[in-house]
Amino acid sequence: MLTGEQYKKSFNDGRATFFEGHRVEDLVAHPVLGQSVDQVAEGYDRWRQPGEDARNPLISVPRSAEELRARIPMQHGADILALVTYQSIMTLTTAADRISGALPEFARRIRAYVEKAQASDIRIVECITDAKGDRSLPPAQQDDPDAYTHVVSRTDKGVVIRGAKLHITAASLAHELMVIPTKAMHKGEESYAIACVVPVNAPGVKIINTSYAPRQEDVRSFPFSSRIHMPEGS
Ligand SMILES: Cc1cc2nc3c(=O)[nH]c(=O)nc-3n(C[C@H](O)[C@H](O)[C@H](O)COP(=O)(O)OP(=O)(O)OC[C@H]3O[C@@H](n4cnc5c(N)ncnc54)[C@H](O)[C@@H]3O)c2cc1C
Repeated sequence: MLTGEQYKKSFNDGRATFFEGHRVEDLVAHPVLGQSVDQVAEGYDRWRQPGEDARNPLISVPRSAEELRARIPMQHGADILALVTYQSIMTLTTAADRISGALPEFARRIRAYVEKAQASDIRIVECITDAKGDRSLPPAQQDDPDAYTHVVSRTDKGVVIRGAKLHITAASLAHELMVIPTKAMHKGEESYAIACVVPVNAPGVKIINTSYAPRQEDVRSFPFSSRIHMPEGS
């Protein structure tokens, strides 16, 4: 498991993230985003246990009703990035179970990914909401083909995707982006039916942040959001 300090160092990976018109070179030192980094780092330190086999209980899959019940008070004290990582892991685990009969190799790969993510104690965000463009038109009929994330080419190493995902909680502070379609796709929309995981620092990924954190120096009117806030990334 990572310490808060190791988590902070993991941002030195060339990620392209922007805030109020500027590229953020140092997330940890940033006056607004740095406070959110601190919240996540505190969570890392709070739940850390020593040992190579240690796993963060917040991002482990509950195996019984008792374990699920015990998780609730833990979640109430957790930062939202740990919570969306847990949701991502549960989404992937559920998908692996559902497809294991028809697509056993894909189920095996998903489970291997989940195991690796838990072992390396990374944080994952859920990139579901597409830009969508004209809501009355399906993905393939949009003027802008990138209104929904889609595959633009395939190589022997994998796929190349394009598109915009909006309002992604804590995107800039995570390690990986779990991309899944925003709705069920139909015949003719196969290139839009893409689910994959993209490293935050992958070539071409750009994240524009917004934050509800107050910018005023006097924060008496913002007793909660001046202390606890998390940016959304698009
Ligand atoms: C603080 C915050 C955090 C978020 N975090 C995440 C995140 O981590 N990951 C993520 O993937 N998303 C995230 N979201 C996005 C959120 O899930 C979406 O905003 C939400 O799903 C609505 O989508 P939209 O904004 O595109 O609205 P729209 O789809 O444009 O909907 C707007 C309104 O129009 C209605 N509408 C839409 N289409 C039609 C239609 N064809 N006919 C009639 N009515 C229609 C809807 O019911 C709704 O009332 C976040 C949003 C916020 C505000």
